[in-house]
Amino acid sequence: MRKLFALLGMLVLVLPVLFGATKAANVTDLHWVTRNDAPIPFVRMVFSLSSPVHATASISSSGTSTTLLLKNATIAGAPTSIVMDDGIAKSATLSQSGPDTVVKIETPRAIDVEDLKVFTLKKDTVNNKPYRMVVDIQKKGVTPRDNYYGKKPAAPVAEKVPAKAAEVKATPKEVSKAETKPTPKTAEKIVAKPAKPAPKTESKQPVALPVVSEKPIPQVVNYRTTGGISGKIIVLDPGHGGSDPGAIGPTGLQEKQVTLPVAEYLKSILEAKGAKVILTRTTDVDVYGPHASGVDELQARVNVANGNQADAFMSIHINSFSNPNVGGIATYYFDGSDQSKKLASSVQGQIAEHSGFNGDRGIQPGNLYVLRHSLMPSILVELGFISNPTEEGHLKESSTQKDFANELAKGLELYFGG
Ligand SMILES: [Zn+2]
Repeated sequence: MRKLFALLGMLVLVLPVLFGATKAANVTDLHWVTRNDAPIPFVRMVFSLSSPVHATASISSSGTSTTLLLKNATIAGAPTSIVMDDGIAKSATLSQSGPDTVVKIETPRAIDVEDLKVFTLKKDTVNNKPYRMVVDIQKKGVTPRDNYYGKKPAAPVAEKVPAKAAEVKATPKEVSKAETKPTPKTAEKIVAKPAKPAPKTESKQPVALPVVSEKPIPQVVNYRTTGGISGKIIVLDPGHGGSDPGAIGPTGLQEKQVTLPVAEYLKSILEAKGAKVILTRTTDVDVYGPHASGVDELQARVNVANGNQADAFMSIHINSFSNPNVGGIATYYFDGSDQSKKLASSVQGQIAEHSGFNGDRGIQPGNLYVLRHSLMPSILVELGFISNPTEEGHLKESSTQKDFANELAKGLELYFGG
């Protein structure tokens, strides 16, 4: 207890994160993963809880020690010490302090409140997941990437130019070595509002697919590109799912909640046109398994396409960015595949001007795992920005989801010469 008080004496930032919990909780498990799929890499820690907890997060004045206090919570099954990522968050230790659990996280560099996000996930009875508290710690000293699908990530533009200019399509640029501060620190930012729903804190954390730098292995496959859509095998990949919500909008809409219904609508439209359609997932699950590494999860999706000898593969995602004004629709394809580029043009031509969205961000070569490792023409669509309040509002509507599905189907049909 004395140790805790000594620590509290050093605190510069205090961030209350959870409220309303009164009954005692058990901390039953703890997982962590390094995520390289956001503009800034981060370590994500997921604490499994028997019931919600009231917690506070604080950062020491040195900035290299972050303490979470989980009130009225008992360590019951969770490891008491874990070693994590040397470059982002080195270690975490859990200790019991009377009725409370104290979690101490050591970071190699000083962090501040903007680098720390704490939010909760409700109990998920469908997937048999407990209450969870999620702690994300961003890497220090790296320049955030905006368009992180391209071969060369673009330098951040949102904070340097007015919002309007930030909406311009990102062009590949060398990343500057300089460390950027996304926003100035203000007292206002330090104090978290108790009434806010937990996912709100994640809206600043765009989540998409990892970029992996190794070269693709060339393989020859027989896929068909002409002769109409009837009889074609099409694999649809609803982005994220299960333990991975994907990006989260300002009102809490999760990317995975949009990508699955769009894929389901699209499946039925394509089947009516005579295509054989396979989904990489049909429910709210991880394709590989909960808390799999990003690569395992993506390879599992690619395996569905390769294993079914698909003629086309389409991964469905929603974009996200720190600037809520940024919006619009884009399609990515694996650079180096003419058929993938043709498919991307055909599909983007149908979805680009979707009403209520911020316009055409074009087709872009993307060095994406799912595109590089699939053997057939493959694209990834980004149906707007969930971080844009207007677009998030539309994406919630099943009418918008159906409209997108119709447009995606039309794009596929045109590609196969329908
Ligand atoms: Zn995504």
